[in-house]
Amino acid sequence: MNHSFEIMAPGGDFASLSAALRSGADSVYIGVGDLNMRSHATMNFQIEELEEVVRLARAAGKKLYLTLNTIIFNSELEKMRQLCDHAKKAGVDAVIASDFAVISYARSIGLSVHGSVQMNLSNLEAVRFAAQFADVVVLARELALEDIASICRSIKEENICGPSGDLLKIEIFIHGALCVAQSGRCFMSQISCNQSANRGRCFQPCRRKYEIKDADSGMTFLLENSNVMSPTDLCMLYHLKELLESGASVFKIEGRGRSADYVANVVSVYREGLDEVAEKGFLSDESASRLMARLEKTFNRSFWHGGYYLGENLDEWSKLSGNQSPVQKKFLGRVTNFFARSMIAEITLEAGEFPQDGQALITGKITGAMELEKCHFMLDEKYPEIAPKGSQITFKVDRKVRRGDLFYQEIPRKFGYISNLDEA
Ligand code: SF4
Repeated sequence: MNHSFEIMAPGGDFASLSAALRSGADSVYIGVGDLNMRSHATMNFQIEELEEVVRLARAAGKKLYLTLNTIIFNSELEKMRQLCDHAKKAGVDAVIASDFAVISYARSIGLSVHGSVQMNLSNLEAVRFAAQFADVVVLARELALEDIASICRSIKEENICGPSGDLLKIEIFIHGALCVAQSGRCFMSQISCNQSANRGRCFQPCRRKYEIKDADSGMTFLLENSNVMSPTDLCMLYHLKELLESGASVFKIEGRGRSADYVANVVSVYREGLDEVAEKGFLSDESASRLMARLEKTFNRSFWHGGYYLGENLDEWSKLSGNQSPVQKKFLGRVTNFFARSMIAEITLEAGEFPQDGQALITGKITGAMELEKCHFMLDEKYPEIAPKGSQITFKVDRKVRRGDLFYQEIPRKFGYISNLDEA
């Protein structure tokens, strides 16, 4: 299949940025400060970190995009301009924007623009209009693949180019959380929590349980599935061939609020899957089931395979609230040493014991995420069944880890049980 494509990954913090860069992403999108759609999330970069973020992406030979896609108020114009100036100076490849103040200013200083999903671009004329200022546009998530293919065909036939002079590129989401509302058109959080989703402060009221109330008697009924507004996650793994055939060329993974191991896992799954389809023209059954088992391991609200892209209505609701991955992370300690010549990591178990050959995960700012299926450790020159809390264990790793990296045990999740363990 002769089709070039770009896998765009979320980078919520340094660990997930590194995880994306090491796992096969071609580009990473990040947020800085509060003028982006994850301003409410704890994970975001500071303006003074932008140079370092771009340097890491460049060193890996990848592109780096800055999301600046909230609605902007007058009082924020100066802050927005400063951020654009800083992004331009740092060498950011493009800003992802929807507000015309951002688009106009970014263009005026020669900073490339990508049209954000917040623009809700759903037809050829809207796309043609956006091509006046954007080299890449994200289409609304609610389009069917045949609509996307038709737009892509017209871009080629009519030679619709962005300001760079190159054919306009179409970007679509391929994996991650979906909204019950249309992209960029939800006011639920604004109404119920006084925090606007369109200002990056969604409190996700749609993810809560709801009940039906008889307005006359006040009697309430709990619905069989009370998560009636919480869609399952989009998953395109089984439809990679159709994705490539649609003509879209930038495939975006949702999840700037997700952890480094999530980013590493999802990016590496789609890298492998898309490369196989690009090479052979299809994804083998063996690869599909192996890669799906890997996707199911990390955070998910269970999956809607193909989503709106197959022309279906949203009809897939989470059965349980929160994460439905069968695996859960338990924080146990930190890397306290790394012996480069022998590739041995030393971990101090600050928070609990760790069983011999347990499944483990190491995450860190530069390390990204490293999974260890069977962690065979040594303690005091022996191989005990259990390493107690407070002990220092050592084991071999296949790439460098760093002092301060976090060490987790991966354990089976107990459903229906409220856990205080770290969420994946
Ligand atoms: S409330 Fe739910 S549907 Fe609305 S923007 Fe937030 S996540 Fe999306």
